[in-house]
Amino acid sequence: MALETVTEPSAPGGARTREGCALVTGGSRGIGAAVARALAADGWPVALTYRSGADAARAVADGIEGDAVALEADVTAPEAAETLLAEAEERLGPVAVLVNNAGVRADGLAVQLDDEQWDAVLATNLTAAFRLTRRALRGMVRRRHGRVINIASVVGPRANPGQANYAASKAGLIGMTKTIAVEVARRGVTVNAIAPGFITTDMTAELPEDVLGEIPARRAGRPEDVAACVRFLASDEAAYVTGTVLTVDGGLSA
Ligand code: NDP
Repeated sequence: MALETVTEPSAPGGARTREGCALVTGGSRGIGAAVARALAADGWPVALTYRSGADAARAVADGIEGDAVALEADVTAPEAAETLLAEAEERLGPVAVLVNNAGVRADGLAVQLDDEQWDAVLATNLTAAFRLTRRALRGMVRRRHGRVINIASVVGPRANPGQANYAASKAGLIGMTKTIAVEVARRGVTVNAIAPGFITTDMTAELPEDVLGEIPARRAGRPEDVAACVRFLASDEAAYVTGTVLTVDGGLSA
């Protein structure tokens, strides 16, 4: 059986050859801000979203050379996917790259976790990512091109006592990633997850320093370590990478 010959040259250095913009949820700080900057450096116009950090989000957008806008939305609102995609499309063009990054944790041992903690984490980390992906896929499938990148975690596939809600949301996100990847693979759309380990951001600010001793690389990750992987998965070079989970954890889960 002859293999199909790929004649379309890829752009050097991961630069993009497609039209459209990137939408990054939770781009006001931490990993999302680094992702927004990395995609902008690759030439993507970027819409970054925030919930409460308006000043921080605007500062990230203002610091980006090229087109960047900060959009306000609580991603847990049922209408958020429609309003965010519509606004990004109107201001920057079709959404070619969606990065579902907005996430929260609300820790506690399972016997003490209340419904509110459970629901808030699942709503932000999983349900919102599903709604945004569903809305973004409409245009991606029609245009026969798209990249969905879900920021999961090493927690989920792996236990982490005190995070049953967070682990469930991230394991769910990985399952969702794989299934949707298979559903849309023939349409030129890739869907992947990234599983960061311990990354220095506000989310990990109160975690004990001794976790660093468990990391073979002997350092915490930087938001830029995760952003570099998003940049790759968004590039033309990653066209044949789909349904996978890229772990970025300094060897923690090896
Ligand atoms: P931060 O707490 O630093 O930032 C979280 C971001 O998500 C903020 O921009 C925040 O917006 C936004 N956000 C939270 N809830 C909502 C909401 N309901 N609607 C809209 N935006 C929201 O987190 P990190 O940068 O550390 O984490 C980013 C992602 O990476 C998360 O999904 C997290 O689970 C994942 N991750 C992080 C790891 C780490 O070690 N840091 C490890 C593994 C995974 P605002 O500030 O405006 O409220």
